[in-house]
Amino acid sequence: MRTIALLLAASLLAAPALAAPERDSHPVTRWEEAPDSAPRPEVEDPEGGWRTEIGLYADVHGDWADQAVLLRLANHAAVSIPQLAERLGVRPSGPIDVYVLSSEADFQRVQPGRTPDWADGTAWPNHGLIFLKTPSIRPGNADPLEQVLDHELVHILLGQAFGGRPVPRWFQEGMAQFYSGEATFEKAIALARNDFGLEPLPLANITGGFPPDPARAQLAYAQSADFVAWLHARGGDESLRTLVRELAAGTPVSDALRSASGLGIAEADAAWRSTQPATLDWYRWITNPAGWWGAVAAFLAIGAYRRRRRGQRKLEQWDAEERARAEAILRAAEEAERRDPPVSLVWAR
Ligand SMILES: [Zn+2]
Repeated sequence: MRTIALLLAASLLAAPALAAPERDSHPVTRWEEAPDSAPRPEVEDPEGGWRTEIGLYADVHGDWADQAVLLRLANHAAVSIPQLAERLGVRPSGPIDVYVLSSEADFQRVQPGRTPDWADGTAWPNHGLIFLKTPSIRPGNADPLEQVLDHELVHILLGQAFGGRPVPRWFQEGMAQFYSGEATFEKAIALARNDFGLEPLPLANITGGFPPDPARAQLAYAQSADFVAWLHARGGDESLRTLVRELAAGTPVSDALRSASGLGIAEADAAWRSTQPATLDWYRWITNPAGWWGAVAAFLAIGAYRRRRRGQRKLEQWDAEERARAEAILRAAEEAERRDPPVSLVWAR
């Protein structure tokens, strides 16, 4: 049913791509480092000191000018943390401090470790630290800050529950996206349409970490989100809670998955993969916007060729026009591809 729905939705979405190639110019991805065993770092005070909103589970700090944002996030966290903890089957254990930084430089400066400059938010589970950016320095089409906070909170809660044990990366990112509401249908469709131009990666290969290559990393994020959504569709919160419990207790990934879903890692991977229309070549061709452009251009080019053979002057003139049009369409398609590489269709975060 899910596959049929995806097929339908993806076909519907593919058609308008003829008129207006889909664009999404602000791929923003999260970045989290593995838990660090070092003591909790001190976050240096800014000149005017931090404005702090005290919360039941998390304190939110930032610029005085961002007072309203801080209050909003503190109120959100007060409700969200217990809800997320309940859904994950864990307990918040330890202080959580959320810092909202008002410049890129400050955002980089306060990180206790290496962070790429494209990160939109960071979570340091062992330290209970979350760093976010104030709305004015984020892209206009970025996810709501509350959603980013929820994403990072899931990382913190999982990190606390795992107590320093490594969390499988697909699980870490899949859970964060799923429970923050980022595992959207759009993302599933991007996977279904093979916007990444790559086959989904074997689950076992994205357990220890994500590939450094940006295209593969984006695919790994989307795949993790969809895989967790698929697990949830099979067994609900309870199945994901079982997975958290088993993995946090140190059960090997495949055994934990079996307890949660009845399938080991290879079987679960294969079962999820079989729900992906991207595995069907004809489907990929039909739903790929570049394929549509190519088909239109090929159609026009064939028409032009036939008429040219007739040797009629007038038709030859049309041929030239047709060819020019076909070439223009091809150029437009190429330009659209260059401007908007398929991988960027997904993360608008
Ligand atoms: Zn994340």
